[in-house]
Amino acid sequence: MSNLSYANAEYGPWKTFLEQVDRVAPYLSEDLSKYVDTLKRPKRALIVDVPIIMDDGTIRHFEGYRVQHNLSRGPGKGGIRYHPDVEINEVMALSAWMTIKTAVVNLPFGGAKGGIRVDPRTLSPRELERLTRRYTSEISHIIGPQKDIPAPDVGTNANVMGWIMDTYSSGQGHTVTGVVTGKPVHLGGSLGRVKATGRGVFITGYEIAKKIGLSLDGAKVSVQGFGNVGSEAANLFSEYKSKIVCIQDHTGTIFNADGIDLEGLHAHVAATQGVLGFAGAKQIDNEDFWDVETDIIIPAALEGQITIERAKRLKAKMILEGANGPTYPEADDILVGRDIVVVPDVICNAGGVTVSYFEWVQDMSSFFWTEDEINERLDKLMIQAVADVWNCAADNKCTMRTAAYILACERILRARKERGIYPG
Ligand code: GLU
Repeated sequence: MSNLSYANAEYGPWKTFLEQVDRVAPYLSEDLSKYVDTLKRPKRALIVDVPIIMDDGTIRHFEGYRVQHNLSRGPGKGGIRYHPDVEINEVMALSAWMTIKTAVVNLPFGGAKGGIRVDPRTLSPRELERLTRRYTSEISHIIGPQKDIPAPDVGTNANVMGWIMDTYSSGQGHTVTGVVTGKPVHLGGSLGRVKATGRGVFITGYEIAKKIGLSLDGAKVSVQGFGNVGSEAANLFSEYKSKIVCIQDHTGTIFNADGIDLEGLHAHVAATQGVLGFAGAKQIDNEDFWDVETDIIIPAALEGQITIERAKRLKAKMILEGANGPTYPEADDILVGRDIVVVPDVICNAGGVTVSYFEWVQDMSSFFWTEDEINERLDKLMIQAVADVWNCAADNKCTMRTAAYILACERILRARKERGIYPG
């Protein structure tokens, strides 16, 4: 159990993370397991007040965070979330999952995450820019290309990253493209970054489907979340002739047993900002999403979606965790008992941070790659990483989640051991 005074370990995503660490501990060698407590607390957690002048002249205060969970293997890496539910417990867990994720795919980074408790849809573009710039200035002393590199997450996008880059650069007196990834392409961003997470979800799903003998041709797929991740994953599954039967987003849930026409849906979402009301599907209750007859479920929204109760009900052969932390540990146990394969978040959605790494490398060398080069390198890296996780799970007779944690924790704790505990 955590003894951190500022984080309640009795509930929420941080509790989920601690339980995941407890599950991997028995698999670690003795010389490494004595360092495991290093994962049970973040290295550094910053809480900042972000006051801004609203368009109507009033002043509002927002609470912002940047947590660096572990820096043993390199600078912190991880997104910035703008969402009304953001709080320290969640940001700590999200930063910890980044530590595991960068280590599973062997990127030279630690794990970090940030966020502001705000509903970005309620702010004007100018208010959003002021919020982002003030937040950046408040966290600017702990971020940097060799310290901690933010990126987009739920509620943020390339424009927000552009403002972060510009604000940080103003403080430094010169342009520092490598301080943040997921930037607009003409500001040092990488081709392929926007679609990278969804692409990685598809690639890992494709690889594991082959292993379990699930043909994608005609397979039924349900997707929760139709943002960056869910929509691109749906596009790729549909290119491989799977049927996207059910989609849920913040506006509601739509269903079509014959498969939803994605081209039409994209046009509808561009016009109305949500899937609800799309003529090519019928609306169903949000809770009924978990009862749909389907082969693959892709939770690609927020954490804490697959509860014990939903794990008992859902009908799927495979779950692809596009979101971070969508499944509770106790629900994981039920899915194992039901022979439902889970491709865990820390490998399944690692495509985004992998192309973030490529972006950071390109910024460092001021030499930019083609989209084909990026996708080729991404595919190769993800295929290898998911095969390593699959083989590790087979060798240890454990879930792919525990296997991913074994591979990651060995790398992180070895780095910790070799660096030593200062002052020794
Ligand atoms: N927010 C994304 C994630 O959870 C991307 C992080 C990054 O690119 O640094 O993996």
